[in-house]
Amino acid sequence: MKDPVNFSIGQPDFDVPEPLKEEAIKAIKAGQNKYSQTAGDSLLQGRIAEQIKSEFGWTNPAILVTSGVSGALLLAFMALVNPGDEVIIPDPYFVMYKHLVNMLGGKCIFVDSYPTFELPLEKISRAITSKTKMIILNSPCNPTGVVYSEEQIKALARIAAEKDVLVITDEIYEKFCYEGRCPSIANYYRKILLLRGFSKSYAMSGWRLGFAAADESLKDVIEQMTKIQQYTFVCAPTPFQKAAIAALDYDVSDFVAAYRKKRDLIYEGLKDRFELVKPGGAFYAFVKAPAGGATKFAEKAIANNVLVIPGNVFSEKDTHFRISYATSDDKIEQGIKILRKLA
Ligand code: PMP
Repeated sequence: MKDPVNFSIGQPDFDVPEPLKEEAIKAIKAGQNKYSQTAGDSLLQGRIAEQIKSEFGWTNPAILVTSGVSGALLLAFMALVNPGDEVIIPDPYFVMYKHLVNMLGGKCIFVDSYPTFELPLEKISRAITSKTKMIILNSPCNPTGVVYSEEQIKALARIAAEKDVLVITDEIYEKFCYEGRCPSIANYYRKILLLRGFSKSYAMSGWRLGFAAADESLKDVIEQMTKIQQYTFVCAPTPFQKAAIAALDYDVSDFVAAYRKKRDLIYEGLKDRFELVKPGGAFYAFVKAPAGGATKFAEKAIANNVLVIPGNVFSEKDTHFRISYATSDDKIEQGIKILRKLA
């Protein structure tokens, strides 16, 4: 396609901030090009641990630096999911979860969160059985952009605690929060694996950096994940780990402010023609397709030069389509005009 409006991309449209690029270049020139420890560069690991301690009050968190949150997810699922285990996943969901569970012989238990995309607490509670291995939490959520409220997160923590179930919280979009900070379950529950990354916050998706953090009581999970990393990826890219130390202190509030404006553009531009929930975070909107389904609508949009992703990629349903508004304001305006005509 020639110069399409590309609403399909799952990464920011800005580049890595210059000072962070400089840190990576400095590390490469200084010869920091060999393997790091499997668990991660010790300075980076220490800095992440400090941040987690001060944010959540954990005393001695275990940290593993991974090749992106994708790496952390693969290692976590490999360490935890045995054949027949059930994994509870709010639907719609980030694509990887389903395929990892299936690959490992586990069983996905989808809990429908349509049409508000709030946490389906009742359904989650009812879905827990003796075979439940874990619940997946992703806020801000890909593909809906929904940020779960403090009350919902607390309620989930209560449900999980009652049944003693592990929660994996994928917080890769935690910086992209447009109404204050995103509540984290790490404040309310210790039996969690917290996953965060650098791909979205600092636009370094090609640098492949993320981490997993757990309370001391779950150190063994991090140790098993570290063992698998040792025999697979070995470690995350060393010079970029050095640059990530500086990223931890880098202020991205200007980027977030720009993305809040983009969120407003999309929401205001579509809300009278389409059914959509106002996204509170990430850079996605999950919009109800007109009658005929999302795949048909996506085909029609593509024929009109706008790339969107049909909902069945992220869901057991095909009623909605995902817009990523991580593109220029001009392209967003163009895309809104075209989509409105197709409504
Ligand atoms: N989790 C979610 C919810 C995502 O949207 C993504 C990227 N699309 C990832 C994890 C993986 O990101 P990365 O491996 O680049 O850290």
